[in-house]
Amino acid sequence: MAQSTPLILRLVASSVTAATRAGKIIRDIMSEGDLGIVEKVCTTGSWSSTVSTGSLAHKDILSSSDSACCSKSHSVSSRIVKPQKEGVAKSESSVVARRNPNTFGKNDLQTEADRSAQRCILASLSQQFPEVTIIGEEGPSFCEVPSDWVVTDSDPEVLKMACPAYLQNIDDKDVVIWVDPLDGTSEYTQGLLEHVTVLIGVAVGDRAVGGVIHQPYYNYKRQREGGEVEEMGRTLWGIVGGGVGGFVPTSAPEGCRILTTTRSHSTPVVQAALDALQPDEVIKVGGAGHKVMMLIEGKAHAYVFASKGCKKWDTCAPEAVLIATGGRLTDLHGDSYKYHKDIPHPNTGGVLATGHGQDHDWYLAKLPDAVRQALV
Ligand code: AMP
Ligand code: MG
Ligand code: MG
Repeated sequence: MAQSTPLILRLVASSVTAATRAGKIIRDIMSEGDLGIVEKVCTTGSWSSTVSTGSLAHKDILSSSDSACCSKSHSVSSRIVKPQKEGVAKSESSVVARRNPNTFGKNDLQTEADRSAQRCILASLSQQFPEVTIIGEEGPSFCEVPSDWVVTDSDPEVLKMACPAYLQNIDDKDVVIWVDPLDGTSEYTQGLLEHVTVLIGVAVGDRAVGGVIHQPYYNYKRQREGGEVEEMGRTLWGIVGGGVGGFVPTSAPEGCRILTTTRSHSTPVVQAALDALQPDEVIKVGGAGHKVMMLIEGKAHAYVFASKGCKKWDTCAPEAVLIATGGRLTDLHGDSYKYHKDIPHPNTGGVLATGHGQDHDWYLAKLPDAVRQALV
């Protein structure tokens, strides 16, 4: 990959291959059958500290029970520099750990697949983009990762794209990559595998401008039912103002209103927002990535989630892909989320995402004040 290729194309092209590799790890862990589920710690209050890691002892493959490495439940902003050793790449960081003042413990699970997929993505991207800030849902990665988890090739289709003018001269220090290594963990543990996605969002300054949504179990049902064997998994991507790949953007049907929302994090406020929008149908599926996929493929008109539960790594990649297709994603007050490295992680204003051709402001205007007031 030529260094003269614009940075945004290189970032998205490398994120496509990293997400695809992470998806394979997610499938492998499920096939092996030991998910290593832990409930994430719920705390209030906040702290921040600087942690520096020294050199790590060489390990060929990290054991799945290595909780010191793998069970961190807080999120961190990390700048990662990892030298390669023979056979093993090391993710080593100078890390600022920050516990969120708002965590929402209900159904907030982490599995070995979340941990391993994140280590694959962080190791792969930080090796190629050492100056870029990477923020992953599952905390810092102090562990060495198997060498075949580190992928540094790039998707050729993305590299062929014309770079939009406003992204031509971006500085890697202004870039933040938001990683949700496994979106839809509850559904993964329950065997609703098509809900699972791997999300890698690229922000420049405040804005989400590039996104990759990998769906590791696409075609899974067809394969299981003995249909024609097609390739398992697919990767959708988009660059705002640049284009999309991996799917055919489709508008939702006219003459009806189909909403999509959470299936595992509902509350009375979540329900009140849906009721106010008078839907013909509500499709409850897991994962922010999966729900935005429903919008860009015309299966739903809007994704409505009146809750503070989503985080920046849930929305960065889906937002960029959605905007690239002509859709919009805001909080329930109509404000856009910001994605710079110092922003708090929770999306406290909720999520309203609408597909191409939808009147986003109509949805905002229909929401009751009581719902908006619950999201301040
Ligand atoms: P869902 O639509 O419920 O699948 O949620 C979309 C994303 O937001 C997933 O990554 C969830 O883990 C996260 N999320 C939503 N609500 C909550 C919550 N109450 N607690 C923790 N995470 C949540
Ligand atoms: Mg998520
Ligand atoms: Mg996740």
